[in-house]
Amino acid sequence: MHSVDIIVPCYNEAEVLQSFLEESERVLSAVQGYRFSYIFVNDGSRDGTLEILRRMSRENERVHYLSFSRNFGKEAAMFAGLKHSTGDYVIVMDADLQHPPALIPEMIKEIEAGHDCAAACRKSRKGEKGLTTRISGLFYRFSNSLSDVKMPQNAVDFRMMSRPMVNAILQLSEVERFSKGIFVWVGFDTAWIPYENVERTMGTSKWSFRSLLKYAIDGITSFTVKPLKLIRNSGILLFIAAIIYLLVTLIKTLVMGKDVPGYASLLCVALFLGGTLQLSLGIVGEYISHIYLEAKDRPIYILKESDLASPEITPDPRQKEQA
Ligand code: UDP
Ligand code: MG
Repeated sequence: MHSVDIIVPCYNEAEVLQSFLEESERVLSAVQGYRFSYIFVNDGSRDGTLEILRRMSRENERVHYLSFSRNFGKEAAMFAGLKHSTGDYVIVMDADLQHPPALIPEMIKEIEAGHDCAAACRKSRKGEKGLTTRISGLFYRFSNSLSDVKMPQNAVDFRMMSRPMVNAILQLSEVERFSKGIFVWVGFDTAWIPYENVERTMGTSKWSFRSLLKYAIDGITSFTVKPLKLIRNSGILLFIAAIIYLLVTLIKTLVMGKDVPGYASLLCVALFLGGTLQLSLGIVGEYISHIYLEAKDRPIYILKESDLASPEITPDPRQKEQA
């Protein structure tokens, strides 16, 4: 009998949790030879998520939960879940039923066939705005052309991993986490399982355009320093161009005695150089902000409550008094 921990990050998912658990239990009760437990991670929800998790864990001994002191983001929630998992295998999936539990038996088949990891990828991006798909396609092409860590565009954070792979992921303790890249970076052999994209039926997506943009920039700057080299190279090119232009102008004035033409070209060059400098500074700044956040070495999340005995939680003396 193998044990499998299912890690589910939850941020304001009160509406869906019950149906998520029912649907998963329905699918998993038919799977032989595996013992499934759940680790729900409440990522500072403001709705009744925590109360529901408390109740579900009282009613079902295979349901566990971790609860953060505030919203730390899905990446932090996944990390906390992985850290508290003890199973031979670990599954990470969303709470909103966009990751169909029906894929889990297929994942198990791939794992049994000898793969270290079985991951879901979308066949199409049906139900998503055309513009989003196109921008996201551009991002992946750009990012993959820069970085050695090639990220598959249609991969989602729904996968089953073996213990060695989970332990490898836990060794990457960076604060600014970008799981899509981390999963690729640690290596191991992954089987891809395509599935038809499912639209969210309950609750709302937590992504805004701004958070997506930040995600894209983090994705690039977390896995490659090529943008910095690009700046250096374009600096060298601009310098060479400037020298050539200087020489040409000098010769023109000295030899042919032409007067230096001016205002418009000067303005263009000034604007171009100003823009390039600003952009370069921005890129450098992006890397410095990563260094800054990592150097502070703050914890990735703060646990406030859990039904699991975690050394990370300081017991609240008030609860002892009540008991
Ligand atoms: N989530 C989280 N913390 C956050 C945002 C999202 O734990 O700050 C969880 C959320 O509850 C869900 C999963 O991450 O289980 C995916 O979120 P969402 O459905 O909003 O993203 P999408 O499916 O649109 O990519
Ligand atoms: Mg979703």
